[in-house]
Amino acid sequence: MITRRNLLKRLSALPLMGGLFGTHWAFGKSAMSAEALPARNVIQEMGLRTFINAAGNYTSMTASLMPPEVMGAIQEASRHYVMLDDLQDAVGARIAELCHAEAAMVTAGCWSALVLGTAGVLTGTDTKKIAQLPFLAGTGMKSEIILQKSHANGYHHALTNTGAKLILIETREELDAAINENTAMMWYLNRETPVGQIKHEEWIAIARKHGIPTMNDIAADVPPVENLWKYNDMGFDLVAISGGKALCGPQSAGILMGKKDLIAAARLNAPPRGGNIGRGNKVNKEEIIGMLVALETFINRDHEAYWKEWERKVAFIAGEISGVPGFRSETFVPEIANENPTLKVSWDKSKVALTGAQLGEKLRKGSPSIETISWEGEDYIRVAVFTLNQGEEKVVAKRLGEELLAAVS
Ligand SMILES: *Cc1c(COP(=O)(O)O)cnc(C)c1O
Repeated sequence: MITRRNLLKRLSALPLMGGLFGTHWAFGKSAMSAEALPARNVIQEMGLRTFINAAGNYTSMTASLMPPEVMGAIQEASRHYVMLDDLQDAVGARIAELCHAEAAMVTAGCWSALVLGTAGVLTGTDTKKIAQLPFLAGTGMKSEIILQKSHANGYHHALTNTGAKLILIETREELDAAINENTAMMWYLNRETPVGQIKHEEWIAIARKHGIPTMNDIAADVPPVENLWKYNDMGFDLVAISGGKALCGPQSAGILMGKKDLIAAARLNAPPRGGNIGRGNKVNKEEIIGMLVALETFINRDHEAYWKEWERKVAFIAGEISGVPGFRSETFVPEIANENPTLKVSWDKSKVALTGAQLGEKLRKGSPSIETISWEGEDYIRVAVFTLNQGEEKVVAKRLGEELLAAVS
């Protein structure tokens, strides 16, 4: 039998840091670091179409490209285990500080932030209530969420994942009449501000008067960068944003930020805990860290330089296609959401036999493939530049010019 002394001697000969010998992948064929492995281009292997994105941050087009800072942090994170809750605590605290919120968490996208935030509002930190969602009847939980009819454009569906009922109103009078002891939350969709009758401050003031929490969905609403803290400063109790749109973080990540008690409650409805409606809203450590680094990278970048560069690209494309008879181009900046200089190319349908969708299809089918935004029956297309890689504006200008000329010759 081995003596205690010999055992200690044997153990002391073992290294303390397994990492010195690489990760557990360091054997067999993969006995190299990820950097040393030749990168596989799976998209190419599978013969999938890639394209120049002159459309914008669309989920269907995989939204945005993550910058090297984010990918580097994701690579490094992938080499370590960490407790998921510890990571959410630390990253959440840092995000909260950056965005003037009491607390924050990384969610599985903005939609997930809407679901988890709403769940937290309904359940608080009561584990029994958390297990009861989405069946609210007879639980004592409030069950109604009020929103403006003009804000109900699809994303509000996320709120119903919790079992809550949506109450749609239009006027101030209707809002006053809708509020009752069953009102759990008042939800606001930032990008529909121009069309809603009740604006941010009034929405918050009315909710406050009745002690009702408010949530603002600002999914795609940077730039301006100040929007990251503006609505927290304004007094919304919860604010939700997409990670993979303008922030250029992981596409399946997002941020929920706001009041400490509500974020704590939202987290109890999310992984690593199960037995709740949020168990599928998992975010891995790579995405949690990628989200933070994307946010920091976005905040710290030279926003003015970016804006000037976008303006230059739009002007370049407009300049290259100018003079093609029958076509006009103008620069516009969407009032809210995806607020970037964008080019609109339009024509007179009676003079040019072309629809927006046809031009869009020609650009898509060309080489290289280019995605723009176009509609059947319309006499214009939209060309975004904030999603272009460096130099791609030249390709877009050339291909667009060729197609416009072909349409009139
Ligand atoms: C894109 C979007 C969402 C969903 O965001 P994901 O990050 O894709 O989950 C929610 N609300 C609005 C207004 C959006 O534009």
